[in-house]
Amino acid sequence: MTVLVTGGAGYIGSHMVLELCERGEKVVVLDNLSTGRRAAVPASVPLVMGDIGDFESVQRVLRTHGIRSIIHFAARIVVPESLADPLGYYLANTVKTRALLAAAVAEGVSEFIFSSTAAVYGEAPLEPLGETAPTHPLSPYGASKLMSEWMLRDTARAHGLHYAILRYFNVAGADPQGRTGQSSPDATHLIKVALQTALGQRAFMEVFGQDYPTPDGTGVRDYIHVADLANAHAVVLQHLREGGDNVLVNAGYGRGYSVREVIGSVKSVTGADIDVRQSPRRPGDPPSVVADPTLLRQTLGWQPRYDDLDTMIRHAYEWERRQGSVPALRAG
Ligand code: UDP
Repeated sequence: MTVLVTGGAGYIGSHMVLELCERGEKVVVLDNLSTGRRAAVPASVPLVMGDIGDFESVQRVLRTHGIRSIIHFAARIVVPESLADPLGYYLANTVKTRALLAAAVAEGVSEFIFSSTAAVYGEAPLEPLGETAPTHPLSPYGASKLMSEWMLRDTARAHGLHYAILRYFNVAGADPQGRTGQSSPDATHLIKVALQTALGQRAFMEVFGQDYPTPDGTGVRDYIHVADLANAHAVVLQHLREGGDNVLVNAGYGRGYSVREVIGSVKSVTGADIDVRQSPRRPGDPPSVVADPTLLRQTLGWQPRYDDLDTMIRHAYEWERRQGSVPALRAG
């Protein structure tokens, strides 16, 4: 019953590995370490350095380790980069997922869980998004993930693979025990940027847009703790193993926070003052993206443990501090 985690040395994948290990699962990681870190994989877990697009190698890994389930995280995930390099994104995310799926079919893998994104919805309405909302991705990143969803659905139908697709909203936080977290130093995500500013690694930060049709005029997002997200995958894997239907689920809490609320929480958690500047809207940013998580919570019985903005930010902050580049808080 070994589980293969592709991208298991990365941010979400490494939390998944911890969750599976805690559940007593046998786990193997496949990661090319392009953005992942070897140190994020526990010493007890075999790490195969390789490419998900290399059919023969993946087939060998599946066979050697007796893989029964695949949880597929390995991908490129930067939206603006995907606009500049669409073919690179379609290769990394879509073409290589095709190779991984082909190897899974060839080796008779039973369950395949795919990491997708709310970016498949594109221009989001102001109300919470259900799984049946129309999909009009605005970036090659979103399109590359949506195409992979289709391939998975069609392949599953033809070959009897059991699958789940999780569309992530804004993933945040870090392992509550401090074993892993978000490591890319040049991340552009709001919480990371705000924490780096609080830690004095940036002189100031910007709020992109103050005139959105939201309660305080700034962008609203549904932030989900990465450990809860990993747990959602485990719940879904169990559901499939027990013979449950294939599922497509939104992974969020169903509660949005504005940019100002996030910055307020970062200030109160860190105790630091933050130089915040008003900037124009960032192109392509929708006003509000919030999940309707009914399916995951009620139908599949997922129960989040860290559904609280301050908790997410505290865990991310503790991780950020542990990275060591800045030992102590600025006064403030
Ligand atoms: N944002 C901001 N300043 C930043 C980074 C992000 O005001 O330095 C805003 C962004 O416009 C959006 C929200 O924060 O409304 C979340 O952005 P993020 O990049 O974290 O995630 P996205 O929702 O774009 O995937």
